[in-house]
Amino acid sequence: MKAGAGPVSLPVPVVWSEDCLRHEPGGEVWLGVRDEGTEVPARAMVLRDALAAAGAPVVPARAHGDEILRAVHDPELLDHLAGIWRDWAEAGLPADCGRDRVVPYVFPTPGMLAGLPLRSPPAVHGRAGLFCYDTMTLVGPGSWAAIRGAADAALTAADLVSSGERLAYALCRPPGHHVTRGAYGGSCYLNNAAIAAQALRAAGARRVAVVDIDAHHGNGTQMIFYDRPDVWYGSLHVDPGAGWFPHYAGYATERGSGDGEGGNRNLPLAPGTGDDAWLAALTTLCGEARAREPDAVVVSLGLDAAATDPESPLCVTEAGYRAAGRLVAALGPAVLIQEGGYDLASLGGLAVAVLSGAAEGAGLDAS
Ligand SMILES: [Zn+2]
Repeated sequence: MKAGAGPVSLPVPVVWSEDCLRHEPGGEVWLGVRDEGTEVPARAMVLRDALAAAGAPVVPARAHGDEILRAVHDPELLDHLAGIWRDWAEAGLPADCGRDRVVPYVFPTPGMLAGLPLRSPPAVHGRAGLFCYDTMTLVGPGSWAAIRGAADAALTAADLVSSGERLAYALCRPPGHHVTRGAYGGSCYLNNAAIAAQALRAAGARRVAVVDIDAHHGNGTQMIFYDRPDVWYGSLHVDPGAGWFPHYAGYATERGSGDGEGGNRNLPLAPGTGDDAWLAALTTLCGEARAREPDAVVVSLGLDAAATDPESPLCVTEAGYRAAGRLVAALGPAVLIQEGGYDLASLGGLAVAVLSGAAEGAGLDAS
């Protein structure tokens, strides 16, 4: 949308849950220091307001049961997230200066256990690291409501596409693509994209393709579907080998395993990559997705590959995002799931650009 052009109609439903504002991470502990953090509630407001101003219909998320969530995540992870703040507060930790959020300090890595069975320790401060793999994904009093609201937004968007909408966008916050079957991290708590993919499968899609254009590798989504033949996962992201999160996954050699062998595709990009190389990689990825003949598509829509974003070294423009929207939406019926994107000044314009491109790619008429 050009300045002064006035509102334009954007024919993509924006699924929204007010609960997504209730998660206040209160910063992140990164390299031992608690920083302010960039995954803030204002992100969701900026996105919703920009899309509504561009003419997109805002649809409330509908409450769903846990069945789909439990199909992609270990029930123990869900129970942990639902109860960890309550247990932390009951233990008196928030009253102790500086313990106003759940921050793990010990992680039961395979090296620590050295073959011992994994147990759930009674002390909540010991248990805090049981399902979490980093120190920057904090839990506070409103976190669970927002996590559940984001999952409901993803499920509602999947319902819309399953019932005939060509496109639907879920304004999920917190984001989700770093969450594996049994562990959360990377400012993510439940994997909204995986939940949407599973819901599409449950509604009858035989094959689903997940295309992840967030600046970071979606290690969680990759591993949830790594050995499954029914959900293909492809990602373009800044090369973890160049020093970027999630560090331990996202390499080109990760191609799936077992029944999912060949069903995973990573295209790591050098820091500094701009529109041309980013869109060339996305074109490759979309070609491979199309070859799987998916009945439905999930797009992990991170806006943090933008040149303006503080969380990645990629240099994509608004025009690049608009072109990306066209490419991914041309693949078929698509659920777009909000992932990262942290520059509050440019976030709204980027979201409008990518959804406008998606509407074009899907052949939807703006009225
Ligand atoms: Zn990201």
